[in-house]
Parts: sequence; structure tokens; C-alpha cells
Amino acid sequence: MRVVDLIRRKRDSEELTGEEIEFLVAGYTAGEIPDYQMAAWLMAVVLKGMTRAELAALTEAMLHSGDTLDLSDLAARKVDKHSTGGVGDKTSLVVAPVVAAGGLLVPMISGRGLGHSGGTLDKLESIRGFNVNLSLAEFRRVLGSCGCALIGQTAEIAPADKKIYALRDVTGTVESPYLICASIMSKKLAEGIDALVLDVKTGSGAFMKKEQEAVYLAELMVETGRRMGKKVVALITDMDQPLGRKAGNALEVEESLEALEGGGPEDLRELCLELAAWMFHLGGRSDTVVGGKKLAAEMIASGRARDKFREIIRLQGGDTAVMDDPSRLPRARQTLSVRSPASGYVAGVQCEQLGIACVVLGGGRERKEDSIDPAVGLTFHKKVGDAVNRDEPLCTIHYNSEARLGEARRLVEQSYRIEPSAPRGPRPLVFRVIGE
Ligand code: URA
Repeated sequence: MRVVDLIRRKRDSEELTGEEIEFLVAGYTAGEIPDYQMAAWLMAVVLKGMTRAELAALTEAMLHSGDTLDLSDLAARKVDKHSTGGVGDKTSLVVAPVVAAGGLLVPMISGRGLGHSGGTLDKLESIRGFNVNLSLAEFRRVLGSCGCALIGQTAEIAPADKKIYALRDVTGTVESPYLICASIMSKKLAEGIDALVLDVKTGSGAFMKKEQEAVYLAELMVETGRRMGKKVVALITDMDQPLGRKAGNALEVEESLEALEGGGPEDLRELCLELAAWMFHLGGRSDTVVGGKKLAAEMIASGRARDKFREIIRLQGGDTAVMDDPSRLPRARQTLSVRSPASGYVAGVQCEQLGIACVVLGGGRERKEDSIDPAVGLTFHKKVGDAVNRDEPLCTIHYNSEARLGEARRLVEQSYRIEPSAPRGPRPLVFRVIGE
């Protein structure tokens, strides 16, 4: 088999066999197929799509590129959540400790920043010492002792996704429902979970901009999970503006700590409660989603979720003192306010542009080998629908490099649409639930 023939056939819209897809995934994971050939094949998939048989073969090949966990010796139900990615989307940092505090096991394998979207692993690493690269034995130990562990794809588990994910991040090959489905489901199916809650984003800051594209992706993932015997639901949620008021790795940890204390922005709190509620419901801790939401709120109000996050940080080697003193998180040396050019209302934002501004500041990667700056990012003072006066701050840019500021500032300035009258009522936070 020649890789170049598989690239050409996908380019020409032909269907590849399971054996051919397995050959590509195994060869790339083993380092036998170079980045440039895999990137070309991935781009052909973005442009030409995949059949259901090809998608099933890709997911299986990625899932079996490493070990799969058997957690049957741990008595509690294992439930996880995963988001398709957005700007300011920090819900995993809140939801995982909430659900573990409520008695379920949360074995979470997450990703790094992808394209313009942030990643849970990069956020967690802004806590000094936090180790997201646990071995499988350590992962089990942390999970067994506190009910939750948060790691990345490793050489042992989901190694194909680890490599393909990093390549897609910098080659414009994220936006394919098939590649997103295989990436997410291969990691999640390797975790040994019983149930999974998916947060599928739609809007200008999502990979699936239109609601019907998000629904299509959600259906693919629900179908894939159920075929493998898992309980799966997908919430289609809004990403037409950033979630919460902060985007950027350390800034998002700070905001997550606020949410774990019962504060933080309303949209963030609401979505975290909703996701946790579904996890409690699928995990059998509550008969109804409404009951699950109540349980999630109790975990926050009682401080148990916060204590759980402290325990996770400690067991994964991180600086637990950030819980009481968030100023220990990395802080950018400089800030700059972007002000409103007119009085009126925020009629809309270009959410993807705001995410790209964070990447440009150094909060994400432009090449695979780039390291990131955990301190940089954006604080949003105005949300869509808010009234604003001329010269009032819309957004604060947190930056460390003058050279990067100009481009980021331009992106932020161009992202806000100010109009004289208020926009029509707010978009819902959750549009639909697929697989209910
Ligand atoms: N999250 C993932 O893990 N993979 C994707 O492709 C997109 C979001």
C-alpha cells in the first residue's frame, strides 16, 4: 500500500477500506508516515468527507492505537463529558470536580488548544506543577483515591489522537465532523466509561458554525458511542460569544475557581450545572435531570466540589495554594483596554476572531513545536445585548509581547459590532439535546 495513493483516492472522493485506514493510522502513530502526507490526507477528509464505514474504521483504528482502560474493579459508575471546543469554554474544570464530589468516577482524557479554541490540558498546566502526563498506573491511582483524574492522550492511551490532534491544530484540518467525531470518541471510548455527555458547540466561535452542522456531528458521536454500548447524550450549546468573561489559560482557571465557589458569570454556572446534571442522570445518581441539577448546585454550595478540585490538584502534583490565592497563577505583565467606538448596544461578536486573538497573543500554537504563554488572554467586560457608552472598555487584552499586541488588538477591535438599538432577545444557552 502506498500512502500517496490513499491521499489521491480520498482527494477523488473514493471510499477507503478499513484496512487502508488502519494502515494510515498505525503508520502515522508509529512515525513511519510523515506529517506532510498525513496532513494532506486529513485535508482531503476535510474537503471530501467520509462514509459511515470509513468513520467507524477511523474511530476503531484510533481507539486501538493504544490501551483501553478496564475500570470494572472500581465500583462507582464512570461518566465523562467532552466539548467540541470553543472560546472561554472552561466547563471541564468545574464539572469534573462537581460530579466526582457527587459520587461518580470521572476518568477524563482531554485535549490541548485546537485551532482558535482553548484546551483543558493547557489550562490545567497553568497551575504550577500540575501533571497532565500521568502514566496509566498513576491515572488509576488518582482516580481511585479521589474519583477524578484529568490527563491528556499519552503514548499508552489514544496515542493516534495525540499525534493527529497536534497536526490538525496547525494545518487547518480541525473543521470536519468525521475527524472531530473520531478524535473525541476514540479518547472517550478508551477511558472505560459507562456514560458520556457531549457539549457540541454551535455559533461563530464553534467549529460547527450552523446549528444543523452541530446536530449532524452530535448524531455521529451519539451513534458511535451507542454502537460501543455506552450511554451518550449530546447538548447543542451556544458558542456565538465566549463563555463567561475570560479566555486564556490562567485567566480561565481563575474564573473556574470563582464558579467552584458559587460565583462566576451566570452563563458559565448555568452550563456547568446543566452538563453535571446530565452526568448525574446518566450515571444513575439522579432519576431526573432536574434532580441532577439540584445535586450539582449542592456540591458547589457545600464547598465539596471546591475541596474535590483541591484534592485533584494535590494528587496530580499541582500548587494547591492557587485555590486560596489565584494571584499565584501566571499573570501577564501588561494590559490594554479596547474601548467602544460608539454608544449603543453590543449587537454581536466574532467569537472565532477573539479565539484567534488569544492564539496570536501566545495562548495557543501556530506550529506544533510552539510552547504557549499561560498568562495571556482576554477579559470581556460586555456581553452580547449589553448597553455600552462611547469609550467604555469592551475587552481587556492581557499580553507579554508588544510584537504580538498589534494583531491581537486589531482582531479584538474588529470583533465587536455596536449598534444603536438592542439586539433581539438572548440566544438560548442550550438549543437541543440529542439522544435524550
Ligand atoms: N475536541 C477533541 O478532542 N477533538 C476534536 O477534534 C475537537 C474537539
